[in-house]
Amino acid sequence: MNTRIYLSSPHMGGTERAYVTEAFDTNWIAPLGPNVQGFEEQLEAYLGEEKHVASLSSGTAALHLALILLGVGAGDEVICQSFTFSASANPIVYQGATPIFVDSEWDTWNMSPDYLEEAIMDRIAKGKKPKAIIAVHLYGMPYKVEEINAIAKKYDIPIVEDSAEALGSTYKGRSCGTFGDLSILSFNGNKIITTSGGGAIVTNSLEMKEKAVFLSTQARDDAPHYQHSSIGYNYRMSNVCAGIGRGQMEVLDDHIALRRKNNAFYAEIFENTNGISVLKEGSSDYFSNHWLSCILVDPKKSSTTAKAIRLTLATDNIESRPLWKPMHLQPVFKEAPYYGAKVSEELFKNGLCLPSGSNLSDEERTRITTILSQFN
Ligand SMILES: *Cc1c(COP(=O)(O)O)cnc(C)c1O
Repeated sequence: MNTRIYLSSPHMGGTERAYVTEAFDTNWIAPLGPNVQGFEEQLEAYLGEEKHVASLSSGTAALHLALILLGVGAGDEVICQSFTFSASANPIVYQGATPIFVDSEWDTWNMSPDYLEEAIMDRIAKGKKPKAIIAVHLYGMPYKVEEINAIAKKYDIPIVEDSAEALGSTYKGRSCGTFGDLSILSFNGNKIITTSGGGAIVTNSLEMKEKAVFLSTQARDDAPHYQHSSIGYNYRMSNVCAGIGRGQMEVLDDHIALRRKNNAFYAEIFENTNGISVLKEGSSDYFSNHWLSCILVDPKKSSTTAKAIRLTLATDNIESRPLWKPMHLQPVFKEAPYYGAKVSEELFKNGLCLPSGSNLSDEERTRITTILSQFN
């Protein structure tokens, strides 16, 4: 059996180990220390826009804290893109709130501005104004930032920008991760850079960052003993993990270039294939890190299916995966209201994520080409 080709696996740049060793040598093995601060400074410099970053134990923790900081509580409603990973929506339920799911549009596969507005108007008519909007840049593709922001502004609802998959992507030259009232990043093992497990919350003010750090370190009041006036969480990133992050930041732009090269590689394979398209930016306003490269098979034009491609890749031990199953179709969210048509459902039915790691070798690309050329 050939060695396995993964969808997206960790890719170290080389200096990560030195930062981790330094953490050991100086005995900073805690959820604070020079790597935590150094990593946050790198992220702030990278994102620009005078943002403040608090590094946390995961992207999910960052989403949870974002909802807490926005005051989401029991009985509230929060709008969320349906076509996403469950981690975008679960923190709504952690807070005792109800998710209201919204469909995607075909250009970016992300939240449809039209259905977003329909959902907001209908929820208000039913008596409850949504407390927040969670919009996601899936697979690294920026959502329709201007349209979504305009609607959020019109109804005065804050945006939580889930940029877990989109570090390094930009919209009109501005970084994803800077468009929300609060934004989040993930450094899970499969993401464009990893701290083995980690995330961050991006805020507009130092005060908000400090609140996030406070809540993420058990909400200790300023007293010599342990005193608590609010409920805290153990969500801070460790100095060991942040050391990996510091090294990864040094190679982030290289990783983006390599993932974009993968996308161009798949675009070329399917260039003349009727009924199979690769997700690409719709205009020069959009710049995707192409975290994952995805295809869509049009059942009306193609003689094959996403499933057939997936199973054929598997015969050579090559991993591929259906696109995210929409949240409104998940058993756990079956009672949640949904606004939209069938866009996310069709994406799920006919789409496929292909191996997209920044560490994909030429030899692996040759194996992938051999399989995929059977379908074009
Ligand atoms: C990975 C991911 C998350 C969660 O991040 P973790 O660091 O794994 O907790 C949230 N949203 C999206 C869209 C993701 O892909």
